[in-house]
Amino acid sequence: MMKYKFGTALILSSSLLLSQSSFYVNAEEKSNEQTENTSKSISFEQAQKMKPKELTNLLTDEDLKLHNKVAEHQSTELETNRNTNEAYQNVNGYIDQNNIKPSAITQDTRMNSLPKYDYKSDKFIGVVIHETANPNSTIDEEINYMYNNYESAFVHAYAGSSKIVQTASSDYLAWGAGAKANPYFYQIELAQSSTFDQFAKSVNNQAYLTAKMLDQNGLKPSLADHNGGTGTVISHNAISQYYGGTDHTDPINYFSQWGYDMDQFYSLVQKHYNQLNEASDTITGDTHTVASGDTLYNISQRSGVSVDNIKELNDLSSNDLTVGQVLKLK
Ligand SMILES: [Zn+2]
Repeated sequence: MMKYKFGTALILSSSLLLSQSSFYVNAEEKSNEQTENTSKSISFEQAQKMKPKELTNLLTDEDLKLHNKVAEHQSTELETNRNTNEAYQNVNGYIDQNNIKPSAITQDTRMNSLPKYDYKSDKFIGVVIHETANPNSTIDEEINYMYNNYESAFVHAYAGSSKIVQTASSDYLAWGAGAKANPYFYQIELAQSSTFDQFAKSVNNQAYLTAKMLDQNGLKPSLADHNGGTGTVISHNAISQYYGGTDHTDPINYFSQWGYDMDQFYSLVQKHYNQLNEASDTITGDTHTVASGDTLYNISQRSGVSVDNIKELNDLSSNDLTVGQVLKLK
Protein backbone atom coordinates (compact mmCIF):
# COMPACT_ATOMS: atom_id res chain seq x y z
CA MET A 1 0.00 0.00 0.00
CA MET A 2 2.73 2.43 1.00
CA LYS A 3 4.79 1.50 -1.99
CA TYR A 4 1.85 2.01 -4.30
CA LYS A 5 1.08 5.42 -2.84
CA PHE A 6 4.65 6.53 -3.20
CA GLY A 7 4.76 5.46 -6.83
CA THR A 8 1.63 7.43 -7.56
CA ALA A 9 3.02 10.51 -5.86
CA LEU A 10 6.02 10.42 -8.17
CA ILE A 11 3.75 10.28 -11.19
CA LEU A 12 1.67 13.18 -9.94
CA SER A 13 4.65 15.37 -9.29
CA SER A 14 6.16 14.89 -12.72
CA SER A 15 3.05 15.26 -14.81
CA LEU A 16 3.08 18.92 -15.74
CA LEU A 17 6.24 18.81 -17.76
CA LEU A 18 4.40 17.94 -20.95
CA SER A 19 2.37 21.04 -21.43
CA GLN A 20 4.34 24.23 -21.65
CA SER A 21 3.28 25.39 -25.11
CA SER A 22 2.07 28.96 -25.27
CA PHE A 23 -1.64 29.51 -25.28
CA TYR A 24 -1.40 32.68 -27.33
CA VAL A 25 0.63 31.14 -30.10
CA ASN A 26 -1.77 28.24 -30.29
CA ALA A 27 -4.81 30.46 -30.26
CA GLU A 28 -3.43 32.33 -33.24
CA GLU A 29 -2.68 29.14 -35.07
CA LYS A 30 -6.20 28.00 -34.44
CA SER A 31 -7.79 31.04 -36.02
CA ASN A 32 -5.45 30.85 -39.01
CA GLU A 33 -6.27 27.27 -39.69
CA GLN A 34 -9.94 27.45 -38.98
CA THR A 35 -10.98 27.31 -42.62
CA GLU A 36 -8.93 24.19 -43.22
CA ASN A 37 -10.33 22.31 -40.27
CA THR A 38 -14.03 22.22 -40.99
CA SER A 39 -16.60 19.66 -39.79
CA LYS A 40 -14.52 18.59 -36.83
CA SER A 41 -17.25 18.89 -34.24
CA ILE A 42 -19.83 16.23 -33.62
CA SER A 43 -23.27 16.63 -32.13
CA PHE A 44 -23.93 16.29 -28.42
CA GLU A 45 -26.31 13.40 -29.16
CA GLN A 46 -23.79 11.51 -31.27
CA ALA A 47 -20.97 12.05 -28.78
CA GLN A 48 -22.98 10.50 -25.95
CA LYS A 49 -23.18 7.21 -27.83
CA MET A 50 -19.48 7.00 -28.60
CA LYS A 51 -16.70 5.09 -26.88
CA PRO A 52 -13.54 6.86 -25.61
CA LYS A 53 -11.48 5.59 -28.56
CA GLU A 54 -14.02 6.88 -31.07
CA LEU A 55 -14.17 10.24 -29.34
CA THR A 56 -10.41 10.66 -29.16
CA ASN A 57 -10.05 9.64 -32.83
CA LEU A 58 -12.12 12.68 -33.77
CA LEU A 59 -9.58 15.06 -32.28
CA THR A 60 -7.26 16.76 -34.76
CA ASP A 61 -3.54 17.35 -34.20
CA GLU A 62 -4.51 20.95 -33.58
CA ASP A 63 -6.95 19.96 -30.82
CA LEU A 64 -4.39 17.67 -29.23
CA LYS A 65 -1.72 20.34 -29.25
CA LEU A 66 -3.95 23.15 -28.02
CA HIS A 67 -5.66 21.32 -25.16
CA ASN A 68 -2.71 19.29 -23.89
CA LYS A 69 -3.08 20.56 -20.31
CA VAL A 70 -3.50 18.70 -17.06
CA ALA A 71 -4.54 20.26 -13.75
CA GLU A 72 -1.54 20.47 -11.52
CA HIS A 73 -1.29 18.42 -8.40
CA GLN A 74 1.49 20.03 -6.45
CA SER A 75 1.88 17.41 -3.77
CA THR A 76 5.08 15.41 -3.99
CA GLU A 77 4.09 12.98 -1.27
CA LEU A 78 0.68 11.84 -0.19
CA GLU A 79 -0.21 12.12 3.47
CA THR A 80 0.49 8.93 5.33
CA ASN A 81 -0.47 9.98 8.84
CA ARG A 82 -4.16 9.24 8.41
CA ASN A 83 -5.55 5.99 9.71
CA THR A 84 -6.49 3.16 7.43
CA ASN A 85 -9.95 2.68 5.92
CA GLU A 86 -11.23 0.60 8.81
CA ALA A 87 -11.03 3.55 11.16
CA TYR A 88 -13.79 5.36 9.30
CA GLN A 89 -17.49 4.80 9.13
CA ASN A 90 -19.44 4.75 5.92
CA VAL A 91 -19.20 8.21 4.33
CA ASN A 92 -22.58 8.17 2.56
CA GLY A 93 -24.27 6.81 5.69
CA TYR A 94 -22.65 9.58 7.74
CA ILE A 95 -23.95 12.19 5.28
CA ASP A 96 -27.49 10.76 5.57
CA GLN A 97 -27.45 10.36 9.34
CA ASN A 98 -26.22 13.87 9.93
CA ASN A 99 -28.54 15.32 7.33
CA ILE A 100 -25.60 17.06 5.65
CA LYS A 101 -26.82 19.49 3.00
CA PRO A 102 -24.83 20.71 0.02
CA SER A 103 -23.30 24.17 0.26
CA ALA A 104 -24.54 26.96 -1.98
CA ILE A 105 -22.93 27.15 -5.43
CA THR A 106 -21.04 30.40 -6.03
CA GLN A 107 -19.27 31.68 -9.11
CA ASP A 108 -15.87 33.34 -9.17
CA THR A 109 -16.00 36.44 -11.37
CA ARG A 110 -12.48 35.77 -12.59
CA MET A 111 -13.97 33.00 -14.75
CA ASN A 112 -14.61 35.59 -17.45
CA SER A 113 -10.89 36.08 -17.99
CA LEU A 114 -10.22 32.43 -18.91
CA PRO A 115 -9.72 31.08 -22.47
CA LYS A 116 -12.99 30.17 -24.18
CA TYR A 117 -12.88 27.13 -26.42
CA ASP A 118 -15.96 25.22 -27.51
CA TYR A 119 -16.38 21.58 -26.59
CA LYS A 120 -15.85 19.15 -29.43
CA SER A 121 -19.34 17.84 -28.70
CA ASP A 122 -21.14 21.22 -28.44
CA LYS A 123 -21.85 20.51 -24.76
CA PHE A 124 -19.96 18.43 -22.19
CA ILE A 125 -20.90 14.73 -22.16
CA GLY A 126 -19.82 13.97 -18.60
CA VAL A 127 -18.03 15.13 -15.46
CA VAL A 128 -14.40 14.36 -14.51
CA ILE A 129 -13.80 13.87 -10.78
CA HIS A 130 -10.45 15.24 -9.58
CA GLU A 131 -8.87 15.96 -6.24
CA THR A 132 -6.16 18.54 -5.68
CA ALA A 133 -3.68 16.16 -3.98
CA ASN A 134 -2.52 19.05 -1.84
CA PRO A 135 -3.11 18.55 1.89
CA ASN A 136 -1.56 21.89 2.81
CA SER A 137 -3.72 24.16 0.72
CA THR A 138 -7.21 25.57 1.25
CA ILE A 139 -9.82 25.70 -1.50
CA ASP A 140 -9.28 29.48 -1.85
CA GLU A 141 -5.53 29.04 -2.20
CA GLU A 142 -6.08 26.35 -4.83
CA ILE A 143 -8.42 28.62 -6.77
CA ASN A 144 -6.04 31.58 -6.60
CA TYR A 145 -3.23 29.36 -7.80
CA MET A 146 -5.40 28.19 -10.68
CA TYR A 147 -6.19 31.71 -11.89
CA ASN A 148 -2.54 32.70 -11.62
CA ASN A 149 -1.52 29.71 -13.72
CA TYR A 150 -4.49 29.21 -16.02
CA GLU A 151 -2.29 29.00 -19.09
CA SER A 152 -0.97 25.73 -17.70
CA ALA A 153 -4.30 24.37 -16.50
CA PHE A 154 -7.73 25.24 -15.13
CA VAL A 155 -10.91 23.40 -14.15
CA HIS A 156 -14.61 24.30 -14.07
CA ALA A 157 -15.20 24.08 -10.33
CA TYR A 158 -13.87 23.31 -6.87
CA ALA A 159 -15.68 21.60 -4.03
CA GLY A 160 -14.59 22.07 -0.42
CA SER A 161 -16.21 21.21 2.89
CA SER A 162 -18.06 24.52 3.17
CA LYS A 163 -18.30 25.85 -0.36
CA ILE A 164 -18.77 25.02 -4.01
CA VAL A 165 -17.10 27.48 -6.38
CA GLN A 166 -17.55 27.48 -10.14
CA THR A 167 -14.29 28.79 -11.58
CA ALA A 168 -14.86 28.46 -15.34
CA SER A 169 -17.95 28.70 -17.51
CA SER A 170 -19.66 25.38 -18.23
CA ASP A 171 -20.19 26.62 -21.79
CA TYR A 172 -16.52 26.12 -22.63
CA LEU A 173 -13.99 23.36 -22.16
CA ALA A 174 -11.38 23.41 -19.37
CA TRP A 175 -7.74 22.29 -19.24
CA GLY A 176 -7.66 19.73 -16.48
CA ALA A 177 -7.54 16.18 -17.81
CA GLY A 178 -5.31 16.15 -20.89
CA ALA A 179 -5.87 16.80 -24.58
CA LYS A 180 -8.04 13.75 -25.19
CA ALA A 181 -10.65 14.40 -22.49
CA ASN A 182 -10.64 18.19 -22.11
CA PRO A 183 -12.74 18.71 -25.28
CA TYR A 184 -15.57 16.57 -23.85
CA PHE A 185 -15.89 17.02 -20.08
CA TYR A 186 -16.91 19.31 -17.23
CA GLN A 187 -14.24 19.04 -14.52
CA ILE A 188 -14.50 19.37 -10.73
CA GLU A 189 -11.62 19.42 -8.23
CA LEU A 190 -12.08 18.26 -4.66
CA ALA A 191 -10.06 20.25 -2.12
CA GLN A 192 -8.45 18.09 0.57
CA SER A 193 -9.79 17.92 4.11
CA SER A 194 -8.11 17.12 7.39
CA THR A 195 -11.07 15.58 9.25
CA PHE A 196 -13.60 12.89 8.37
CA ASP A 197 -16.49 15.32 8.86
CA GLN A 198 -14.96 17.80 6.41
CA PHE A 199 -14.21 15.04 3.94
CA ALA A 200 -17.85 13.89 4.03
CA LYS A 201 -19.07 17.46 3.50
CA SER A 202 -16.63 18.05 0.66
CA VAL A 203 -17.49 14.91 -1.33
CA ASN A 204 -21.14 15.63 -0.73
CA ASN A 205 -20.57 19.03 -2.35
CA GLN A 206 -18.63 17.50 -5.23
CA ALA A 207 -21.34 14.87 -5.82
CA TYR A 208 -24.08 17.49 -5.62
CA LEU A 209 -22.42 19.72 -8.21
CA THR A 210 -21.82 16.68 -10.43
CA ALA A 211 -25.53 15.80 -10.25
CA LYS A 212 -26.55 19.41 -10.82
CA MET A 213 -24.34 19.79 -13.91
CA LEU A 214 -25.52 16.48 -15.40
CA ASP A 215 -29.13 17.47 -14.80
CA GLN A 216 -28.56 20.91 -16.27
CA ASN A 217 -27.10 19.38 -19.44
CA GLY A 218 -29.82 16.75 -19.86
CA LEU A 219 -27.46 13.89 -18.94
CA LYS A 220 -28.31 10.95 -16.70
CA PRO A 221 -25.73 9.66 -14.21
CA SER A 222 -23.78 6.54 -15.19
CA LEU A 223 -20.37 5.46 -13.90
CA ALA A 224 -17.67 5.21 -16.56
CA ASP A 225 -14.93 3.76 -14.37
CA HIS A 226 -16.04 0.12 -14.63
CA ASN A 227 -17.62 0.46 -18.06
CA GLY A 228 -14.66 0.87 -20.39
CA GLY A 229 -14.67 4.63 -19.81
CA THR A 230 -18.17 5.11 -21.20
CA GLY A 231 -20.45 7.01 -18.83
CA THR A 232 -21.20 10.46 -17.50
CA VAL A 233 -19.29 10.28 -14.19
CA ILE A 234 -15.60 9.47 -14.59
CA SER A 235 -12.52 9.71 -12.35
CA HIS A 236 -9.36 11.33 -13.66
CA ASN A 237 -7.89 7.87 -13.08
CA ALA A 238 -10.33 6.35 -15.61
CA ILE A 239 -9.56 9.17 -18.07
CA SER A 240 -5.90 8.10 -17.90
CA GLN A 241 -6.94 4.49 -18.41
CA TYR A 242 -9.46 4.84 -21.24
CA TYR A 243 -8.83 8.18 -22.95
CA GLY A 244 -5.10 8.65 -22.39
CA GLY A 245 -3.28 11.95 -22.73
CA THR A 246 -2.68 12.04 -18.97
CA ASP A 247 -1.37 9.65 -16.33
CA HIS A 248 -2.98 10.97 -13.14
CA THR A 249 -4.78 8.54 -10.85
CA ASP A 250 -6.82 10.93 -8.70
CA PRO A 251 -9.06 10.81 -6.77
CA ILE A 252 -8.65 7.06 -6.09
CA ASN A 253 -5.90 7.13 -3.45
CA TYR A 254 -7.28 10.15 -1.63
CA PHE A 255 -10.78 8.64 -1.52
CA SER A 256 -9.35 5.37 -0.18
CA GLN A 257 -7.63 7.23 2.66
CA TRP A 258 -11.12 7.99 3.95
CA GLY A 259 -12.48 4.52 3.19
CA TYR A 260 -14.22 5.82 0.09
CA ASP A 261 -14.29 4.82 -3.58
CA MET A 262 -15.80 5.83 -6.93
CA ASP A 263 -18.73 3.42 -6.57
CA GLN A 264 -19.77 5.08 -3.33
CA PHE A 265 -19.21 8.51 -4.82
CA TYR A 266 -21.36 7.52 -7.77
CA SER A 267 -24.25 6.41 -5.56
CA LEU A 268 -24.02 9.79 -3.82
CA VAL A 269 -24.30 11.48 -7.23
CA GLN A 270 -27.35 9.34 -7.98
CA LYS A 271 -28.94 10.37 -4.68
CA HIS A 272 -28.51 14.05 -5.47
CA TYR A 273 -29.64 13.58 -9.05
CA ASN A 274 -32.82 11.86 -7.89
CA GLN A 275 -33.46 14.57 -5.34
CA LEU A 276 -33.05 17.30 -7.94
CA ASN A 277 -35.58 15.53 -10.11
CA GLU A 278 -38.00 14.82 -7.31
CA ALA A 279 -37.61 18.10 -5.48
CA SER A 280 -41.19 19.07 -6.26
CA ASP A 281 -42.43 15.57 -5.55
CA THR A 282 -43.68 16.33 -2.05
CA ILE A 283 -44.99 13.47 0.08
CA THR A 284 -48.14 14.43 1.99
CA GLY A 285 -49.81 11.14 2.98
CA ASP A 286 -49.55 9.12 6.20
CA THR A 287 -47.59 6.43 4.36
CA HIS A 288 -45.16 6.28 1.46
CA THR A 289 -44.50 3.35 -0.86
CA VAL A 290 -40.77 3.18 -1.59
CA ALA A 291 -39.97 3.74 -5.26
CA SER A 292 -36.74 3.14 -7.17
CA GLY A 293 -34.16 5.77 -6.24
CA ASP A 294 -35.78 6.63 -2.90
CA THR A 295 -33.55 6.97 0.13
CA LEU A 296 -34.48 7.68 3.73
CA TYR A 297 -32.87 11.09 3.38
CA ASN A 298 -34.80 11.90 0.24
CA ILE A 299 -38.11 10.71 1.73
CA SER A 300 -37.33 12.78 4.80
CA GLN A 301 -36.72 15.86 2.66
CA ARG A 302 -39.93 15.40 0.70
CA SER A 303 -42.16 14.56 3.67
CA GLY A 304 -40.64 16.83 6.31
CA VAL A 305 -40.34 13.84 8.68
CA SER A 306 -36.80 13.35 10.02
CA VAL A 307 -34.78 10.27 9.12
CA ASP A 308 -34.71 9.25 12.78
CA ASN A 309 -38.49 9.55 13.06
CA ILE A 310 -39.08 7.48 9.95
CA LYS A 311 -36.74 4.80 11.28
CA GLU A 312 -38.47 4.80 14.65
CA LEU A 313 -41.99 4.69 13.19
CA ASN A 314 -41.03 1.72 11.03
CA ASP A 315 -38.66 -0.13 13.38
CA LEU A 316 -35.81 0.21 10.89
CA SER A 317 -32.36 -0.70 12.15
CA SER A 318 -30.52 0.32 8.96
CA ASN A 319 -30.96 2.83 6.16
CA ASP A 320 -31.74 0.11 3.62
CA LEU A 321 -35.08 0.33 1.82
CA THR A 322 -36.70 -2.02 -0.67
CA VAL A 323 -38.83 -0.94 -3.60
CA GLY A 324 -42.49 -1.47 -2.75
CA GLN A 325 -41.92 -1.27 1.02
CA VAL A 326 -44.64 0.81 2.71
CA LEU A 327 -43.32 3.30 5.26
CA LYS A 328 -45.41 4.90 7.98
CA LEU A 329 -44.82 8.64 8.17
CA LYS A 330 -47.16 9.37 11.11
ZN1 LIG B 1 -6.98 15.24 -11.73
